[in-house]
Amino acid sequence: MAKKLVYFFGGGKAEGRTEMKQVLGGKGANLAEMTHIGLPVPPGFTIVTEVCDLYYKGGRKWPAGLAEQIDRNIIRLEKVMGQTLGDPRDPLLVSVRSGAAVSMPGMMDTVLNLGLNEQAVQGLIRKTGNERFAWDAYRRFINMYGDVVMGVAHEHFEAEMTRIKEARGVQLDTDLSADDLKQLCRAYMGVYQKHVKKPFPTDPRKQLAGAVNAVITSWNGDRAVKYRQLNHITGLLGTAVNVQTMVFGNMGDTSGTGVCFTRDPASGENVFYGEFLMNAQGEDVVAGIRTPLPIAELDNYLPRCYRELVEIKGRLERHYRDVQDFEFTIQEGTLYILQTRTGKRTAAAAVKIAVDMVAEKLIGKTEAVCRVEPAMLDHLLHPMLAASPGAAAGKVCFTAEEAEHMHERGEPVLLVRHETSPEDIGGMAAARGILTSTGGMTSHAAVVARGMGKTCIAGCGELRINYRNKTVTAGGTTVGEHEWLSIDGTTGEVMLGSVPTVEPTLSGDFATLMKWADGFRTIGVRTNADTPHDAKVARDFGAEGIGLTRTEHMFFEGDRIWAVREMIMAEDEDARRTALAKLMPMQREDFEGIFTAMDGLPVTIRLLDPPLHEFLPQDDATQSEMAERLGVDVEAVRTKVEQQHEMNPMLGFRGCRLSIVYPEIAEMQVRAIMEAACNVKKRGVKVHPEIMVPLIGTAKEIEVLAEAVHRVAKEAIKAKGVRVAYMVGTMIEIPRAALVADRIAETAEFFSFGTNDLTQMTFGYSRDDVGSFVPKYIKQEILSRDPFQALDQEGVGQLVEMAIRKGRATRKDLKVGICGEHGGEPSSVEFCHRVGMNYVSCSPFRVPIARLAAAQAAIADLPPARRRAARKTKGAKKAKKIKKTTKARKAVRKKKPAAKK
Ligand code: PEP
Ligand code: MG
Repeated sequence: MAKKLVYFFGGGKAEGRTEMKQVLGGKGANLAEMTHIGLPVPPGFTIVTEVCDLYYKGGRKWPAGLAEQIDRNIIRLEKVMGQTLGDPRDPLLVSVRSGAAVSMPGMMDTVLNLGLNEQAVQGLIRKTGNERFAWDAYRRFINMYGDVVMGVAHEHFEAEMTRIKEARGVQLDTDLSADDLKQLCRAYMGVYQKHVKKPFPTDPRKQLAGAVNAVITSWNGDRAVKYRQLNHITGLLGTAVNVQTMVFGNMGDTSGTGVCFTRDPASGENVFYGEFLMNAQGEDVVAGIRTPLPIAELDNYLPRCYRELVEIKGRLERHYRDVQDFEFTIQEGTLYILQTRTGKRTAAAAVKIAVDMVAEKLIGKTEAVCRVEPAMLDHLLHPMLAASPGAAAGKVCFTAEEAEHMHERGEPVLLVRHETSPEDIGGMAAARGILTSTGGMTSHAAVVARGMGKTCIAGCGELRINYRNKTVTAGGTTVGEHEWLSIDGTTGEVMLGSVPTVEPTLSGDFATLMKWADGFRTIGVRTNADTPHDAKVARDFGAEGIGLTRTEHMFFEGDRIWAVREMIMAEDEDARRTALAKLMPMQREDFEGIFTAMDGLPVTIRLLDPPLHEFLPQDDATQSEMAERLGVDVEAVRTKVEQQHEMNPMLGFRGCRLSIVYPEIAEMQVRAIMEAACNVKKRGVKVHPEIMVPLIGTAKEIEVLAEAVHRVAKEAIKAKGVRVAYMVGTMIEIPRAALVADRIAETAEFFSFGTNDLTQMTFGYSRDDVGSFVPKYIKQEILSRDPFQALDQEGVGQLVEMAIRKGRATRKDLKVGICGEHGGEPSSVEFCHRVGMNYVSCSPFRVPIARLAAAQAAIADLPPARRRAARKTKGAKKAKKIKKTTKARKAVRKKKPAAKK
């Protein structure tokens, strides 16, 4: 039997289901589902996503059997509707829309009113008795078909519209008469023929074929590709195509159209949220051209429809057990639901909705923890405007391109536009916040912004934006390009300048969700912190220790750099020791501060890592200052700078190599660490120092250095007369270290994967220079992600897994963590969990992200039956059981190497 390529829905039955998103796309699957549960969905059919894939593979041709299956489904649709395509008495009209498995709002193409031609338009007039409406529908169709299917720029049609409005002396499209619109249709046909050089297709089946191809082609359009890149959407077959009976919201005063959310997607509050326009087509709302009315006002226009809509809102949320974003149309007093999908929401809303839904017994805690995307929390974790968490400040840019340029220069950007179109996606991604003068909160732009977690005020009617002068004016105040503006997405306020920021805190719903996450998590979360302040911030965010203190950062503080430079200039060991002695009390004080902030928790301190030339001045003025301060000739400084120069410093004299050649540097640092530990212990602080040697590549290196570390540590302990337990371990950041991890573990008591260097050396990509080619690699899908952001599990991951396995073969209880940037990136955290690491370590602001990602990894690791059980709403008792099971699994995982996903 031929493969099923088309699925029907209508007449109370549907061939698809909501679980079939990969096959039918999100929109198609939900249209089928809504039909099943008895919602008023206009009938139609969905062409499966695989067709998109086959179309490209087959050289832009339809796969075998598709034409016949479309034909059969048209006949079925005509039967259900009692109408026929192209019928001069009562024509069936359809919409043709995209819909991939992952929602990509506004990124692909749509054709409406398909099926109209010179005869069918007469049929529409006869059927509706509304000549103006019929010609309006026809001119919209010619425009859309010309633009979307044949690539005739919209502005050519717009020029004809302007011409006729000027000739009639009217301002608005709605002021044009039926005759005017009929004339406009003729003019549009002229535009079409001029640019396409072929007559407009009159056969509705031919029109349909063109529209289906256009939707499929838009899958690979610029904006769709960019959207997928920005959202790391890969591995999809393509878009499905939904062909659905048209219903009209522009048939007069008892018609309208709108977009609703079952809860407020900006704040997460459980209130019906949405907008509508009377006497309009759906595209008018989502395209943000007219500013719509709040949904509650529909009660004043069409109270029966409003009540029905409220009832459907409740049904949708109960059925899907998540916030729904749905579109409706009212045609002459009859309500239709055109689509539903999971509502995109801000980070703050995501957290609130997840916690509220547990209280409402709609979902369990397991599901709540999985509902929030860890990376989204980023928006809740940076210093924010004092006014509210939903606020942003930036320098005004009036175009998406300028926003991208400014962002590349590291500037904070506020994108200000009349309205944002999906073409602006790059600029929106670059901006901290988005401000528009028209459009509503359900416009595509607002939905996309929210999906990105961006603050957005859409439809701020008081703004007067002048693109030519690059100014924006409101309330008598004018702001120019690159001047500061702040916006509060919660209150809708626009403020001059950069409103002061406050440190975020982890409280309320956010804290609740994190507590639940910790109930599932089996891997520890530490932080990378070099100062007591950062350590405290991280601890407040739930860090369970420090996984990396980079001691070199302390060398730049205040006047210390001069002692460091003196040490580098020293001609012999004695002179070096003299300089180091000046640094020692300062380092000790730093460590005391960090140990105190981390009272009771482990602190991993890494010995000096970077090449020494990084501490030397490169410019003439500072070289002269250095010569003067150190009482040496400026030539001597220059010579030293030249001597330190390396062709490839990242592979040069750095890491443990420094400590092997100049053991006195490591000695000073170890003494400072251990004396600090003893001092704070005397003051009652519980201290657990872990001394970490960087850039080990051979077993002998760690042997030599561990011996030195133990010798100095013991001396310090003896001198202070306090017993402090400590550990000595190493970073694994050179591929060779991973290969000989069993030998290294003979000495090292712990491993911490330095995946920044490990990635650099495994790929052979300089971590400081990837900007020149990695973006291109991602675009060409040579790489799926930047390997310095998300751990390359296929390659680097193998080294990590092997090193853990070999290390633990030698030392059963080897403690293993990660301290490269990947430690706070969700997919990498999941990997670290899977390969049995003890902890991940990341920057303070990513600690909650790592906690949530680790919890989600533990939940995904549960056997399916347990996961299903945990999903039931009586969460608490089951969550406990799950925790026990996860612990048991963790014990097993320790023994066995983790299975590859
Ligand atoms: C690493 O290489 O991953 C690491 C944490 O060290 P650094 O970034 O300081 O080289
Ligand atoms: Mg490193």
